Amino acid sequence: MSEKGFKGLVKGLLKTNRVYGTIEKDGFPAFGELSRPEDLVLSTRPTHLSAKQFLFPQREVLLRYDMKKGSHEAVIESGKQVLIGLHPCDIKGLNLMDRVFAHGVPDPNYLARREQTIVIGGDCVPDDYCFCKSLGNSEVESGFDIFLHVLGKGFLVRTGSDIGAALLSEHAETREPSAREFQEFRERRAKRDSSFKASVDASPEELPEIYSKSDESGVWEKIGAICTGCGSCNNVCPTCYCFDVKDEVKANLVEGERVRTWDGCALEDFAKVAGGHNFRKTRAERLRHRFNRKFRYLSGTFDSLFCVGCGRCSRACLVKINIVDVTNEIVREYNNK
Ligand code: SF4
Ligand code: SF4
Repeated sequence: MSEKGFKGLVKGLLKTNRVYGTIEKDGFPAFGELSRPEDLVLSTRPTHLSAKQFLFPQREVLLRYDMKKGSHEAVIESGKQVLIGLHPCDIKGLNLMDRVFAHGVPDPNYLARREQTIVIGGDCVPDDYCFCKSLGNSEVESGFDIFLHVLGKGFLVRTGSDIGAALLSEHAETREPSAREFQEFRERRAKRDSSFKASVDASPEELPEIYSKSDESGVWEKIGAICTGCGSCNNVCPTCYCFDVKDEVKANLVEGERVRTWDGCALEDFAKVAGGHNFRKTRAERLRHRFNRKFRYLSGTFDSLFCVGCGRCSRACLVKINIVDVTNEIVREYNNK
């Protein structure tokens, strides 16, 4: 597909959808709403925030009620939307979120949004923090409708769903790629694969067992001593899905809203219960919990790690706690036991 063809596709999508994609914000790539195709700056660099906000907003109303009337109504705010520029690790993260919100009691708000979301993925170039390849997440085969592989001129396009194929034939001109274009794609892919600087020193299959022996490791006190408890690592993570639900009653003490907001296990109040007891009082305990959620605890339920290797938590951490360094220290301790 030519660049002109891609612009035509975005233009077509804008007619009937809210379209979010990578834009340039303060010199960095970030997801933002597009009002015209020119707003999109397809970025191979990672964004600071993931795209989870478009399916699981930072704040959303779940319910409105009126105690005088004894009535309540569920609120599900969703509409047709398109997300453009998600990298393979972002899509892997989305696939995990899909499983989480469909698991047990399905979450109608998330699922209604997901149902109406078209995903267009795009190629990435790893920075110093990206380590998705060592977790097996540098390639993606599902969870997108269209995936764009950048070529010198235009894109090599993969479709991941019938919807993606239909959108391409409706809005963009495509043709079969030439042998030279396939070759260019392979060369670019090999160059990308050889440019990862960060990697975990164990296979994804080994990590739950390795983490299960790390509870007494000194690494938790070490990073707990410098952690500020800001929760940025939770906020930026594409697979952190914990939330808090609160009732906000209006001043008339009759009407109110039930509101859900993101929560994070690195925050002090996260495990605090009535009476003031905190099940994870120290930052060391909270970080140990967070890392175990990513590499151990959820592997039994979902048969998957819950870290996709995007590096966002390390990038965002003001005291430079790096998930790869921490994990490799745990791996070293395990191997030396
Ligand atoms: S981002 Fe860093 S400092 Fe903030 S809670 Fe997470 S580990 Fe601690
Ligand atoms: S734990 Fe860190 S590296 Fe892993 S998916 Fe979350 S933000 Fe990305």
